[in-house]
Amino acid sequence: MSGEVAVSTSGFEARLASNPLDAALRNEILANPGFGRYFTDHMVHVRWTRAGGWQRGEIRPYGPLLIDPASPVLHYGQEIFEGIKAYRHADGSVWTFRPEKNAARFRASARRLALPELDDETFLGSLKTLVAQDVDWVPTPKNEAEECSLYLRPFMIGNGKSLGVKPAAEVDYYLIASPAAAYFKGGGKPVSIWLSQHYNRAAPGGTGFAKCGGNYAASLLAQAEAESHGCDQVAFLDAAENKWIEELGGMNLFFVYRDGRLVTPALTGTILEGVTRDSILELARDAGLTPEERPISIDEWRDGVANGDIVEVFACGTAAVITQIGQLVTESDRIVTPPIEGEAVSAKLRKRLLDIQYGRSEDTRGWLMQLA
Ligand SMILES: *Cc1c(COP(=O)(O)O)cnc(C)c1O
Repeated sequence: MSGEVAVSTSGFEARLASNPLDAALRNEILANPGFGRYFTDHMVHVRWTRAGGWQRGEIRPYGPLLIDPASPVLHYGQEIFEGIKAYRHADGSVWTFRPEKNAARFRASARRLALPELDDETFLGSLKTLVAQDVDWVPTPKNEAEECSLYLRPFMIGNGKSLGVKPAAEVDYYLIASPAAAYFKGGGKPVSIWLSQHYNRAAPGGTGFAKCGGNYAASLLAQAEAESHGCDQVAFLDAAENKWIEELGGMNLFFVYRDGRLVTPALTGTILEGVTRDSILELARDAGLTPEERPISIDEWRDGVANGDIVEVFACGTAAVITQIGQLVTESDRIVTPPIEGEAVSAKLRKRLLDIQYGRSEDTRGWLMQLA
């Protein structure tokens, strides 16, 4: 399974794969990676115990985990994760985007799920260690239209023999990496969204702001309902009034108004604080838009599209970047955003964001961190 043991410069112990995937097979995968189907040769692991705290991390061959059958993650869903990408620039170097935001969010998620906080240095160090080791797995875009990257998935689980309902005394942090092509297969075509009118994603005082598996588990049935209605994704309303737009199962929402306002639901604790969302709010002013974070109701969406005030709706997140929403389908009607004449605001923002991430325009805000 593994070869030599050495201590890498980043402080992670290295136990490297003795049988990494053959370069020809790897390149075949990189030519058509899809999303989340293939994983690199290695992963990072850091263990925590209540008695000893965080231990020295290691990079080791990718492979199955050892999980106690009585562990809190299996029975009570004590789990959190992150999603972040590594981008290859034209000169071959590899960078990531605002990783300190992910590190901080990972700590916030950990607090909510009663997991130990991982310090930012270890979080960022794990990204550097894995990407530097498996750098040949970072795809190279053939042109500006091709949106490929190495998707990085940090996660933390409550492990150990403990069926009592209480926070785990043994915790494992892992980082795995998966080469990725564009998230939606439609090639940038506007997507259809289903409005969930019976299921909510998050409630006040719950875990909506935390990036945890449980939120996703609770969204799967609504997502299946969306697909049965021919839709790509599901939009959730607030749990108290079933009236206010929150977000999609894994993406935040924006509305572009004819007068240049760019509206996104305010962060209330039930919405995931997207790094992409935050970046778009920052880029909006440069693009001559007026960003607004405030509640927006399903009626405002319906009426705004009908009277022409709302000219574009889009979703955003690390995996799918910015995706136009062509229509919202509900149990009683369809809210169809008319096609945009000229350059769409969402297309302009998408290009600005991608140009920074792929090093094609200057990173004036210091958003990039080099990984390899
Ligand atoms: C991860 C996630 C997002 C997007 O966050 P980014 O940091 O932009 O990737 C939005 N909503 C949910 C529910 C998420 O889990």
